[in-house]
Amino acid sequence: MAQDGFVLVSRESQITKQSLAVSPVQSRHHEGAHDYLAEIASFIDHQSEKLWSLNKFIHNNPEIAFKEFKAHEALTKFMRSQPERWQVTSSACGIETAWIAVYDSGRKGPAVSFNVEMDALPDLGHACGHNLIASASLAGALATAQVMNTHSLAGKVYVFGTPGEEGYHGGKIQLLNRGAYHKVDVSLISHPSVLNNSPFVRTTTFCRLEVEFFGRAAHAANAPWQGINALDALVTSYNSISMLRQQTQPNDVIGFAITNGGGEATNIIHAYSSAVCTIRSSSSSRLETLIEKVSACFDAGAQAAGATVKIQVIKGYKDHVPNMHLASSFAKHWSSLPDPYPVGPELRADEREYVHVKASTDQGDISHALPSVNVSFAIPAGPEKGGPHSADFEKAAGTKGAFDRAMRVGKGMAAVAVDVLAEEGFLETVKEEWRKRFGAGEDV
Ligand SMILES: [Zn+2]
Ligand SMILES: [Zn+2]
Repeated sequence: MAQDGFVLVSRESQITKQSLAVSPVQSRHHEGAHDYLAEIASFIDHQSEKLWSLNKFIHNNPEIAFKEFKAHEALTKFMRSQPERWQVTSSACGIETAWIAVYDSGRKGPAVSFNVEMDALPDLGHACGHNLIASASLAGALATAQVMNTHSLAGKVYVFGTPGEEGYHGGKIQLLNRGAYHKVDVSLISHPSVLNNSPFVRTTTFCRLEVEFFGRAAHAANAPWQGINALDALVTSYNSISMLRQQTQPNDVIGFAITNGGGEATNIIHAYSSAVCTIRSSSSSRLETLIEKVSACFDAGAQAAGATVKIQVIKGYKDHVPNMHLASSFAKHWSSLPDPYPVGPELRADEREYVHVKASTDQGDISHALPSVNVSFAIPAGPEKGGPHSADFEKAAGTKGAFDRAMRVGKGMAAVAVDVLAEEGFLETVKEEWRKRFGAGEDV
């Protein structure tokens, strides 16, 4: 469902910061790193007119998850028209609107990647600003390939057109499961908001529980003792979950909706009831614990009423855990870029803190599979200061001011990619950090 996509909820009260025991990026950048950034910035400035047209086309032609046909067509055509040699695959991995473009230097080296989101929201258009995500990633990927070409850097650049971020079906997860990221070393992406400028954002993981209670109908006046009340089972469960909420952690959210209360007849003991429950938390291990606790409430309701219960756990998205080495590199480059129109809180280059948001994205699953950064960037807000998934944000996401912010993000991401490709030992440090976190099946 749309509301479980990348949603940034209201201001500071819902953002907590957590200190990290991560050592700062050592300044091992060889001389010339900032020359790359200047070169990247100038290249992207020259591309911005073409990218702005594409950005407007996507924004003006919103298409919902897995129906991004126009965007798929326009973006693959754009990649095929590039002077650099990009190998473009339409409808990649058997997914109609997925695509992959690869720039190969011809020499063995690291493989960096950029994800391009395309989907809009039902009835709301591009109210999540995925047109800006596409523009930033395209700018970043093209600039990286340009620098590789100019400076004969070895390696590859992948661009993944990733459909359907909104909802539960995560195009990135499908591409991941089909091996698309198999040969990729790092994944870069961004997401617009009106709150943060940070590559240290940690998103929320979520899942959905679909629950059914089965009882036995009986006449409520003549022989109620013969009935098993499925609605009672549901109500007991609901009350148990409501009490559980007092003992949850600050980042835990348990949403509940009754989808079938057993019918409208008051003279029949209800034989059937159903509910859905969306659980969110800040880490995948915590989510597992919550699934157990909530399931126990459903079991308790069923037991109390004598009903039977069927619980179906539908996986959502994992929490995005930023790779701090990649994120720190982005922070440094972002801070070095000129900012003619400041929007949102400025990111300090020495910042080393997670910014927790109650938003979810399938980039989370990518971050558990390979080192990833998901840069959150603020765009000039609309008159109502509406965040993602609001009509106000849809308008804001189509402005030139928002596009300019996306271009700055593209520059920063390209500079990170070039660090991966050009700086000795950089990728190893990135991978070592990822292995420490996820290598032993550990979760943070
Ligand atoms: Zn969204
Ligand atoms: Zn989004």
